[in-house]
Amino acid sequence: MSFRSVFLGPPGAGKGTQALTVASGPGVLHLSTGDMLRAHVSKGTELGAQAKGFMDAGQLVPDALIIAMVEERLGGEGANSWILDGFPRTIPQAEALDQSLQAANASLTHVVYFRVPNEALMQRLTGRRTCGDCGAIWNVHTKPTQTEGKCDACGGSLTHRSDDRPEAVSQRLEAYDKQTKPLLDFYRSKGCLVEIDADRSPQEVSQELSDALAKEVC
Ligand code: AMP
Repeated sequence: MSFRSVFLGPPGAGKGTQALTVASGPGVLHLSTGDMLRAHVSKGTELGAQAKGFMDAGQLVPDALIIAMVEERLGGEGANSWILDGFPRTIPQAEALDQSLQAANASLTHVVYFRVPNEALMQRLTGRRTCGDCGAIWNVHTKPTQTEGKCDACGGSLTHRSDDRPEAVSQRLEAYDKQTKPLLDFYRSKGCLVEIDADRSPQEVSQELSDALAKEVC
């Protein structure tokens, strides 16, 4: 079956890890606005330069920049199924997404909410390490690699995101509470929200997620 899903939840909830697993199947496009922005920053594009200060401070990048970036990608892709990971993060972004989907005669099939209590997030985020080569996500506390600093999957070097340091993490959690949490009611009122207890092992979450994606809810 095909799906067009938004993955919603606080930073560190495991949206990226789960999206990578789902998108390892054929024909599934995984669009992470965080990854897209980090690619712009490392390539030194104008968008990267505009976004970097907000990202390092743990703040959201202005809506207009994000919306233009996502519309360009979604418009150009012919994938059957896609996951938006980390977008939308504000009500104006959600409204812009609705409008582009309507214009393309399409609609969402699911909005999956990965629920994790705040106390668990700080440890998940500050311990997170990402492989610079294959994108696999590890954690020094909960999912360590066999050799420190090296990816078990591909041997690439692990990086510690600059916004996973404690000061930026507090800001990101605050931005989530103020700007992103209102999306839960926005999508709940449209009958689109599927809630998953994500304070469990990635395997347990993955099982519940594939059951959830098997039936359209919107
Ligand atoms: P993430 O990798 O999803 O945690 O995103 C990392 C950072 O990129 C966020 O803290 C924001 O600064 C920025 N960002 C990612 N997605 C968005 C979005 N949809 N709206 C605004 N800022 C975003």
